[in-house]
Amino acid sequence: MLLFFILGLFVHFVFFGSIFDIYFTSPLVHGMTPQFTPLPPPAKRLVLFVADGLRADTLYELDENGNSRAPFIRNIIMHEGSWGLSHTRVPTESRPGHVALIAGFYEDVSAVAKGWKENPVEFDSLINESKYTWSWGSPDILTMFAKGAYGDHVFTYTYDADSEDFGAHDVTKLDTWVFDKVKEFFHAARNNQSLFSKLNEEKIVFFLHLLGIDTNGHAHRPSSREYKDNIKLVDAGMKEMVSILEHFYGNDGKTAFIFTSDHGMTDWGSHGAGHPSETLTPFVTWGAGIKYPQKVSAQKFDDAFLKEWRLESWKRQDIHQADIAPLMASLIGVPFPLNSVGILPVDYLNNTDLFKAESMFTNAIQILEQFKVKMTQKKEVTLPFLFIPFKLLPESKQLNIVRKARSYIKQRKYDEAVSLCKELIHLALKGLSYYHTYDRFFLAINVVLGFLGWTSYAFLLIIKSHFNLTRGVNKEVKKPSHLLSCSCIAIGVFVAFFLLLQDCPWTYYIYCLLPVPIWYAVLREFQVIQDFVTLLLTVPPSYFVGYLLVFILGIEILVLSFFYRYMLTAGLLAFAGWPFITQLWTRAKSISLSWIFFSLLLAAFPLMPVVGRKPDIFLVMGAGLLVLLLSLCVLTSLIKRKDSFINEELLLHLFQMLSVVLSMCVTYSTHSSLRKKQGLPLLNQIISWLILAFSLVLPLLSPTSLFERLFSILLSLMSTYILLSTGYEALFPLVLSCLMFVWIQVEQETLQQRGISCKQKVTSVRFTCSTDITQFRQLYLDDVRRAFFLVFFLVTAFFGTGNIASVNSFDLASVYCFLTVFSPFMMGALMMWKILIPFVLVMCAFEAVQLTTQLSSKSISHYVIVMSMTIVLVFLNGLAHLLTTKKLRLCGKPKSHLI
Ligand SMILES: [Zn+2]
Ligand SMILES: [Zn+2]
Repeated sequence: MLLFFILGLFVHFVFFGSIFDIYFTSPLVHGMTPQFTPLPPPAKRLVLFVADGLRADTLYELDENGNSRAPFIRNIIMHEGSWGLSHTRVPTESRPGHVALIAGFYEDVSAVAKGWKENPVEFDSLINESKYTWSWGSPDILTMFAKGAYGDHVFTYTYDADSEDFGAHDVTKLDTWVFDKVKEFFHAARNNQSLFSKLNEEKIVFFLHLLGIDTNGHAHRPSSREYKDNIKLVDAGMKEMVSILEHFYGNDGKTAFIFTSDHGMTDWGSHGAGHPSETLTPFVTWGAGIKYPQKVSAQKFDDAFLKEWRLESWKRQDIHQADIAPLMASLIGVPFPLNSVGILPVDYLNNTDLFKAESMFTNAIQILEQFKVKMTQKKEVTLPFLFIPFKLLPESKQLNIVRKARSYIKQRKYDEAVSLCKELIHLALKGLSYYHTYDRFFLAINVVLGFLGWTSYAFLLIIKSHFNLTRGVNKEVKKPSHLLSCSCIAIGVFVAFFLLLQDCPWTYYIYCLLPVPIWYAVLREFQVIQDFVTLLLTVPPSYFVGYLLVFILGIEILVLSFFYRYMLTAGLLAFAGWPFITQLWTRAKSISLSWIFFSLLLAAFPLMPVVGRKPDIFLVMGAGLLVLLLSLCVLTSLIKRKDSFINEELLLHLFQMLSVVLSMCVTYSTHSSLRKKQGLPLLNQIISWLILAFSLVLPLLSPTSLFERLFSILLSLMSTYILLSTGYEALFPLVLSCLMFVWIQVEQETLQQRGISCKQKVTSVRFTCSTDITQFRQLYLDDVRRAFFLVFFLVTAFFGTGNIASVNSFDLASVYCFLTVFSPFMMGALMMWKILIPFVLVMCAFEAVQLTTQLSSKSISHYVIVMSMTIVLVFLNGLAHLLTTKKLRLCGKPKSHLI
């Protein structure tokens, strides 16, 4: 059994890993030649301001008095330059945002998974292509581009990473630091001959990364005074920077300016996902080569922003974040970053039509180059007769379009040339994604095959060990024929040879070869399959169909609840009705009633907004009070029941209640102190960590009788959970555990219904008592239901409060009792623990259910099998979902965001 368990873990691990190989692979290719426009560029230098975490609306909108928060920027929009919204993509994090801005491509999740500070892949960027770049700001961002650059032409000035203190008085110093350093820099340049001559070169970039707004947004949310005041500060700082620069260069009119942000921020102070507040960022540009404001009478946009911001009469031009990279490159005349998929926004350019057409042509050739390299790479590693080229862009068509575009430019038909180039770009981008996802279907088929095999195998094992199918028949177990093993080996060798020919990565061997032994194991049990089918045929068809329907419905609810939280509510409502369809209602009214009550109560949680959006410290206090009330009740009942209530136990119980009280006090005082901007008091911090540490030890001191131990665990975990809560979610583990307590009793009842004698009352069961292993009871249909309940409760524990519903719902405010200095590892660990607490509660309750329903310890593994089967089904369904949606995207109309 242990071997089976380890094997199961391995299979799941491999197939989980396959997701990364199938969906999250780097789209980058290497080996292209740099492309640039053979015309003089309009600007000698470029200044890039990135206000990290700045939302478009908070910048553009007017405040309560009708004044702009950023008068300097608004003045630019009205009198000097062009503006619009820059649309960013998921994940809306700093690194992918800056990569899109400066290198022109969209980094996928794998880059995030593989670490922030290192470059998982080599990539080219505007900064790398520039003659010199000077950059100021956060070390996390700047070093990323400095590392990717060759030679010694990128200069970075960063502050210490420890300055990013979320609870500190004033994080705007992250911005003022940058402004001060730039001022010093230009001052020093006047007396430094070599620096002065470098500064007067062409193709140079100044990059100012301003982290204050992002930090303030995380700490205080974007609606706060702090966030808005920070925008004012950045606006004023930029004004000063621009005047210093213009002065330094004697107003030569050869400087281009760009102001934008890497991503926005949700109302609750987070980013990472795809909400409009996160993906819409401001984009304002002015100076050399940029169009002046264009007055227009009417503009067509689906949203109401223009009216809200009172900017209806100034032409708004939206772009995609990656388009900024080619724009910047063309302004200072450097090659487009090699992996850029950005499309030059020609409407922003104040230049000749020839320049626009030539630049667009360069852009098209540069993206076509990537397409060609990608195709060649794929072609090289695929067997000739299996290679299916991208049909929309064959070589003849590429040549044709390129030749035609050239002749249009010669004939001065510039508009036609530009639109032809755009067409070529769109085709090449489509082709790029075609070759990028080339292996996806093949791999997915293999993974599904492996999973199906594994599920069948687990299923067969359960049948074999529990239904005694072949008993009585007393057939000699047939030796598996040589034919089967030989053919399996043959298939394995053939697959390996096939993969070898195609030069596949080693992981492909695992995905493709693993199904072979699994299916071999399944087919070896042919006898069992045959017997099971005969057994099924004896069951009345109506019963069979009924069970099947219930099973499918249950699984479907489970699967859907991964995508829609409210499906959990539907499931819990069904649970509430469950006592009525069994005999439970007639046999045990009070238990049934409490089961219904807590199911309904728990059903309310998935309907509430995701954790952290509406903080309410009083709900947390309320949860604490309820815990105290409950523990008083438990205490009195324990004292009544036991004549010899040991002092030690009483002491422990009181101590745990004390820790709940303490954590309530700490939470309250921390939040009020943070509100008054006094930071996190050291005493609170110490007490928080102490409570966390004790909560792991205290339950071990409690008596092992079932309810007392469970209650002790609840008290301990609740005291930690209160520290980590900011709102209604503090009530969640409490309600969940109440339901779990009832569940234990319900299972006891259902067991008695089956006519199995129960020797022990639930209250007297001890965790330590060894169950009689000789009393090996068979698996009933009820056990399948139990396994389903367990999986459903686990899913509820995970998704109930929407803690992990999406990346951006991690609310940093929930760890403020423990630390306020930004430390991703510590914060991540605490968040993980917060998510795990409900999970632990459910698992402890299940341990009790196992005990009370007299399942031998051996049966635990059977539950694991049943559970993994369910999870596998869930996963398969999810995979099918992904597969179908991906299919739609490939064959259907191109997605609008590609255009
Ligand atoms: Zn950022
Ligand atoms: Zn941020």
